[in-house]
Amino acid sequence: MPKILIVEDEESIRSFIKVNLIRHNYTVLEAASGEEAIELANKQPDIKIALLDVMLPGIDGFAVCQQLRETYPQLGIIMLTAKGQEADKIEGLALGADDYIVKPFSPQELMARIAALLRRINLPILNDPIKLLTTGSFSLNLLEKKLYKNDTEINLTPTELAIFNLFMHNENIALSRDNILNEVWGTDYFGDIKVVDVNIRRIRKKIADNEHTYIESVWGYGYRFQGDVTDE
Ligand code: CA
Repeated sequence: MPKILIVEDEESIRSFIKVNLIRHNYTVLEAASGEEAIELANKQPDIKIALLDVMLPGIDGFAVCQQLRETYPQLGIIMLTAKGQEADKIEGLALGADDYIVKPFSPQELMARIAALLRRINLPILNDPIKLLTTGSFSLNLLEKKLYKNDTEINLTPTELAIFNLFMHNENIALSRDNILNEVWGTDYFGDIKVVDVNIRRIRKKIADNEHTYIESVWGYGYRFQGDVTDE
């Protein structure tokens, strides 16, 4: 079963999460500090998802997120943020988190977020006969879950990969924010639509060059991807 790391200094919250994860047959690892979390992740690189509390003693959840993201681009990261800390959510996402959940949360909500993120990590490739998508200088290898631009690998998070996969299947078509949210996060997602914008900003930064951003904003609507720019 997928291995999930809980990083939370409050023992009561940690055990509440743990009990619920075990009930859903996940394998659980626990850390009470960021330092401990990084050590654990280095020992057990097969962790699928890290649940990261923001307020931790020592290095905080943002720093842990950043470090884990650099070392493990394919790791799923969900931030556990305090109520009303809107800036925290956006900062976490900007640093590479895939999602956030606001405390206090119900076990159902947490499980839904985890299940949705696992779907993204696994990408719906099994029923897709096409394993390699190419356009312009981009090629997306769905088996390796890797994106290449001019044969150089571009490290994308699981969520960014899922979005890019969607773009590749809908090149030159304007996709609405809602559409992207439903396709990537799932229709049962009850978070903020800003997650779409933050993730797209991150992808753009990674794929843009001096001539092109490749992802165009469609004002008041969403985004359009154009990978093949040769005829411009
Ligand atoms: Ca805490």
